[in-house]
Amino acid sequence: MRIRSSLFQSLAAVGACAMGCAALAAPPTQCPALADLPALHCVSNAQGWFYAGTPDAAADLAADASSVAMEFSRYFGRPAPRGAVIAAGTAQTISASTTDALKAAGATWQLPWLDAAERRDLQRSALHKQLRARLPDASDADIRARIDAAIPAQPATTQDATDRSAVRHEIGHMALMRAFWPAPSAQAAAAGHYGGPGPDWLDELAAVLMESDTMADSRRALLGRPDAADHLRPLDVFFAQSHPMAAQLPALQAQATSDAGAGGRVRVLSGEAAQRLAGDARWFYAQARGVADFLLASSDDPAVFGSIAAFLADGGDMDGWLAAHGNRYGLPTTVAALGAAWTQWLAARGAQPATDAPQVR
Ligand SMILES: [Zn+2]
Repeated sequence: MRIRSSLFQSLAAVGACAMGCAALAAPPTQCPALADLPALHCVSNAQGWFYAGTPDAAADLAADASSVAMEFSRYFGRPAPRGAVIAAGTAQTISASTTDALKAAGATWQLPWLDAAERRDLQRSALHKQLRARLPDASDADIRARIDAAIPAQPATTQDATDRSAVRHEIGHMALMRAFWPAPSAQAAAAGHYGGPGPDWLDELAAVLMESDTMADSRRALLGRPDAADHLRPLDVFFAQSHPMAAQLPALQAQATSDAGAGGRVRVLSGEAAQRLAGDARWFYAQARGVADFLLASSDDPAVFGSIAAFLADGGDMDGWLAAHGNRYGLPTTVAALGAAWTQWLAARGAQPATDAPQVR
């Protein structure tokens, strides 16, 4: 079903362009053959090239990229640049020749990916290593029980839905970066932003905007908790702060690389480190979701985020954007006034019951 719909979209795009529609993206090209990963199946569409272990999994990735592209153009007013997702499994590495082949085909970003079951296996094996080191005399059954308690099984459907939301989140990061900062400056790289050259809050906001409704609701539920005020930052601080994971980034990259094998760059954490960092970061994600909702509620134009991104990519800041464009979007003209409106909006929103929906990334 998904394959058919993806093919239909591709054919529709080709047909429309053949009829002279210059505004549409160029028709998709064939999947580049990846010499190092010949067993992977690939689906291409207007958003790029999607490789996975089965045709269905590749089609799912392509469909997820298509939904990101739709949402991205709605919120950012620009087409999402094309890229590639390579779900090569834990035993495979992404080589330089793979990267080069995809770049040559026109992929402006590349996302190595593990599916939910593979991530879970990695988490279990990392936890097994930690527990075995800490409890050398424990029986295998005891270790297994501890792992089962720490990483409870989720129904396959929940796992799949969470996984698909997560890949959309990551593609959202890529799309923002490539659409607004196509050639990141050395200064931006040196500034050490977590996800890209843009400010961390906007980077994360773009990613959470691409998530599933279930995931969005779980972020909103956090905002409604009675202790939310202890964790949320004043807006001026939020706009300037680094991603909570930024300080740990070198360690995270080292772990992700060793988890995925040499050459892998899969964003996967495991065991206690993942839980601790997720705890620190989830308020940042929740605030990104909240600020997105707040700006959407204040403006008739969902492409408000594109106006902000374009202004910041030109070197401006939020005070400058609000002064120049705040009125147009029904917003105050300073960060201080926007911060006061945000606080009021949060208070008016009231407490919402917490849910036990999964919190990832
Ligand atoms: Zn993110």
